[in-house]
Amino acid sequence: MKPFLLVLSSPSGGGKSTIARHLLEAREDLGYSISATTRGPRAGEEDGVHYHFLTPEEFDRREAAGEFVESASYGGHRYGTLRSEVDRVLASGRHVVMDIEVQGARQVRQAIPDTVSVFVLPPSGSVLVERLRGRATENEAGLARRLVHAAEELLAATEYDYVVVNDDLVAAVDAVAAILEAEGHRTGRTAGLEDRVRTMSAEVRAARTDVAESSA
Ligand code: ADP
Ligand code: 5GP
Repeated sequence: MKPFLLVLSSPSGGGKSTIARHLLEAREDLGYSISATTRGPRAGEEDGVHYHFLTPEEFDRREAAGEFVESASYGGHRYGTLRSEVDRVLASGRHVVMDIEVQGARQVRQAIPDTVSVFVLPPSGSVLVERLRGRATENEAGLARRLVHAAEELLAATEYDYVVVNDDLVAAVDAVAAILEAEGHRTGRTAGLEDRVRTMSAEVRAARTDVAESSA
């Protein structure tokens, strides 16, 4: 099967990273596109694992060199997907999981129309705020900025191929897995389908001739 890009977006705190992590742990047919960002690492985040942490100058240089498939500004920082990351995962025969915000998702869909996009929706606005607070990664100003962004990002949900409500985590992960399963069965992604059905058709035709001859 031809591997494809799976874009996961949600407002900050919606649960896309958690869902992506569970899928990546459970399945060998997926690889993560490690984004580049100019924001600093959070506690526990490692360079080259969670993100490629770049200085703004290095980000600009790589952007000018055309190294990004897409890029966007978010919360006062730059984020972007490196072509080399997408190519690395595709070259290993795995689907590319991308955890990106909505402006970047638009650019990816435009550049690579075969992309599968999923919007992860929190069960309610208040649950989103609670989860984002509960994650405790932002100070009050950062939290406020993310909530302003979140209110805007929610409105982009209708642009995506699929929407998954992240109420129960296991159910949400299962729903994205079901999407992957179905997308893998698209006729356009079934390698050698045309040759296979031609060969099969010829076999069936030959069998019919045999049957006709033996009953004559
Ligand atoms: P995002 O990557 O979209 O910003 P995260 O994956 O970091 O969001 O999730 C935000 C917070 O909500 C995290 O603390 C995470 O553990 C928690 N969370 C995610 N999904 C669920 C869920 N279904 N039920 C309860 N908590 C969740
Ligand atoms: P965070 O700072 O919480 O890790 O990420 C902030 C936002 O940036 C999230 O919505 C996340 O999905 C998004 N993001 C992460 N990597 C990329 C990327 O490579 N490109 C774009 N456009 N957004 C990204």
